[in-house]
Amino acid sequence: MTETTVRPSDATGGHAATGIGPGAPVLAFDVGGTTIKAAYLDADGVPATILRTPSPAFGPASAQGVLDSVVELSRRLTPPGAAPEAIGLTLPGIVDDETGFATYSENLGWRDVDFAALCASRSALPVAIGHDVRSAGTAEMELGAGRGHRTAVVVVLGTGISAAVFVEGRPVVARGYAGEIGHAVVVPRGEACVCGNQGCLEAIASAAAIARRYSRMSGREVAGAREVLHAMIQGDRVASVVWDSAIDALALGLSHVVSLIQPEVIILGGGLAEAGEHLFGPLEERLRSMLTYVPAPALARASAGENAGLLGSALLARRALARAGTERGVTG
Ligand SMILES: [Zn+2]
Repeated sequence: MTETTVRPSDATGGHAATGIGPGAPVLAFDVGGTTIKAAYLDADGVPATILRTPSPAFGPASAQGVLDSVVELSRRLTPPGAAPEAIGLTLPGIVDDETGFATYSENLGWRDVDFAALCASRSALPVAIGHDVRSAGTAEMELGAGRGHRTAVVVVLGTGISAAVFVEGRPVVARGYAGEIGHAVVVPRGEACVCGNQGCLEAIASAAAIARRYSRMSGREVAGAREVLHAMIQGDRVASVVWDSAIDALALGLSHVVSLIQPEVIILGGGLAEAGEHLFGPLEERLRSMLTYVPAPALARASAGENAGLLGSALLARRALARAGTERGVTG
């Protein structure tokens, strides 16, 4: 097993959140398609180190593999004499944060796994289960660009496109299906999508789609959306067409979200958000031009940092503890 340990300040850079603030000590896990990040956060809410270990191999046994890692890493990360009070476990795929039930993981291969029950059988600590985008969104709302807002959408623009939706201060979960904006059709009978549909937002505007569409249209293979952006800046017409159509698709998809829930802010993260003004400028302009009846929300760049999912896990663990305390109080 190859592992790396990083100091959080190395990993998150100067401006990102480095902790969750004072409270109960907790263990936090963020399970991705290839890597599990894990940390112990002391009463100051700061992870001393962040351990990265490979995710289990794809297949139905991966759920047990995740739990084995949680048990093993919990033992190793807890300093001598320390007593973490809860565990936060963030998972990829379709996950119901409220029941702890994971319906499906495309990357790790499990189906219909009751993580809440399995964790309870393996650990004496209260466990909060989270979904990767919603956990990162929770960190964004409490520690990053969403601070002070109650209704907001956090959109991750990466290989795919997914969102965390917060309405009146609460995440919208919908059994794990809320926020799948990447598979909303924005071009009828458009580009084929991995989901089997056509014209999905992520088939046109994700970082992967921008690179793929440019490679196909120009006949020049590029490794990523960053190369397409550079080509556009240097006056490449095909790159401009691809980039503009991605911005149009994003504006259209987001305009519907705005009409439905009127977020105070739309927070954009993921690799594509690194395009900065080349993304935010034209997107804001087009979104405004589409919204004549309702106010256009502010656009903001995600700022909780690359460990947002892990910090979100820790925040969920603290909440689970608060909930358990309340329940104990109510029942005497
Ligand atoms: Zn799709």
